[in-house]
Amino acid sequence: MSVTRHTPSPQPHWVVNMNRRNRSVSFVAAFLTLASHVWLQQLSPWLYPTLAVSFLVWPQLAYLRARQSADSMHSEFNNLVIDAVIFGLWIAGLGFPVWITFILGISITMNLMVFRGLPGTFQALTGLAGGVVAGGLFAGFWFQPATHWITTVLAISSISMYLLLVGHVSFSRNLILHDARERQRLTEQELKRQIEENRLLQEQLQEQANRDPLTGLYNRRYLEDSLHREMTRCLRQGDPLSLVLIDLDHFKGVNDLHGHSAGDLVINQLASVLTALSRGSDIVCRFGGEEFLVVLPGTGLEAAEARAEDYRRMFEKTPVAMGENLFSVTLSAGVACSYREVPPDELIRQADLALYEAKEAGRNRVVCRAPWTGEAQRA
Ligand code: GH3
Ligand code: MG
Ligand code: MG
Repeated sequence: MSVTRHTPSPQPHWVVNMNRRNRSVSFVAAFLTLASHVWLQQLSPWLYPTLAVSFLVWPQLAYLRARQSADSMHSEFNNLVIDAVIFGLWIAGLGFPVWITFILGISITMNLMVFRGLPGTFQALTGLAGGVVAGGLFAGFWFQPATHWITTVLAISSISMYLLLVGHVSFSRNLILHDARERQRLTEQELKRQIEENRLLQEQLQEQANRDPLTGLYNRRYLEDSLHREMTRCLRQGDPLSLVLIDLDHFKGVNDLHGHSAGDLVINQLASVLTALSRGSDIVCRFGGEEFLVVLPGTGLEAAEARAEDYRRMFEKTPVAMGENLFSVTLSAGVACSYREVPPDELIRQADLALYEAKEAGRNRVVCRAPWTGEAQRA
């Protein structure tokens, strides 16, 4: 034989705890009101223990029942329906005294309405009706609508106290809700701040990943990402795109003669010249070692050649200071231009061929090569 065990909820639902507090107070008030009626109307003394079970013992049993249940909230809703049945039994059992009928009926209807809305009201009325019918069938239907003034005063006090209790509970719940919303708002703000911080950090990391640490220029990785994009954009707009590939002349000799640090200074010097002479839309990148590549979107062959000449002349005229020593280095440049879609690697290869020609022709010069003609022109 298998036994199904219900695991009690570790912490009963807040509704269970709240109803326990409400029942502990309002059921005692109802007990006193009904007991006064039994006493003043000289009804059967057997009603006292029954009253005690209904209004003093049942609230504790209801709480234990909900606590033991796996779904304490559901169990508590059933408890409220049982409350309604008990109230119906007493209304019929006492002969429908108006004040007692009113306070028991309105309190349980309100209670179920608070938690379940209109369906709750329907459940309360059904429970009450069920209790009334059962009570009537058990004790017979009889009517004694009047109550002694003492019972009336107790009934009015009980219902007033109950209403004030409901008001107090609503107020407390509102406060808790308000606090919870405020906490949620602050958490959301904090979350947004952290997301923004992460975004900025990611941007920074992305930027660092795209930059060459020595010169701060874009690196080859960034160039590979952006060259195709720039080319597509230019050709869509009907604009040309040019590349200037630059290599320092006899740079090994510079390193050998002045040291590697001096070589680094020269590389930085060239980076500054290229940056100073470039527009915002150009992409200046350290292509590797002492080679640089400048992407000139929207620039035709002649303008690109003029720009490369500017780089060459300005760099030649800017000596590098290394301690006491002041020395100048020259550069060679190859220019390639495209007016139609070509693979980016092909355009770079054209610029490289032009650079090779510049080196071959004696260095410190610019050579242009247009990919669509394949002819190299001496600058
Ligand atoms: P050429 O005129 O034919 O270009 O002769 P070159 O001596 O410049 O020859 P090449 O371009 O092949 O030389 C590249 C040298 O650049 C080799 C390497 O030691 C040096 N180099 C590459 N990267 C760096 C760097 O970051 N710092 C320094 N100081 N030197 C570098
Ligand atoms: Mg080189
Ligand atoms: Mg070189």
